[in-house]
Amino acid sequence: MDCIFCKIAQKKMNATVVHETQSIIAIKDIHPQAPTHLLIIPKKHYSTLLDCADRELLADMLEAAKTLAKDLGVDSKGFRTIINTNEEGGQTVFHLHMHFIAGRPLMGKMG
Ligand code: AMP
Ligand code: ZN
Repeated sequence: MDCIFCKIAQKKMNATVVHETQSIIAIKDIHPQAPTHLLIIPKKHYSTLLDCADRELLADMLEAAKTLAKDLGVDSKGFRTIINTNEEGGQTVFHLHMHFIAGRPLMGKMG
């Protein structure tokens, strides 16, 4: 399948990996919207959140966000996790992923 996040998860395409577990990989976003902008990507392909019924995997993604927050020391200051879904949700890469954003005040909307 011609999917960039599958290729990154399979290490067939370069990315800056910051965290990895059996089920997810976390990388630096190539166009950061804040000093810290990571993507938590399941290794298994699901096009959108709506296509994923794997509760354990969804929990793994949230647990990865908590681990990253602690490891990066942004847990007390705060961070934002976002899953964009479909066109009006702002999804551009159709492989489920969660944004992890921190390092500046994030009031109101993302951006
Ligand atoms: P979304 O708009 O929610 O689908 O988010 C896709 C994100 O993937 C955007 O923030 C892009 O900057 C990011 N992105 C696209 N290609 C790459 C890549 N090769 N490596 C890292 N991040 C990427
Ligand atoms: Zn994929």
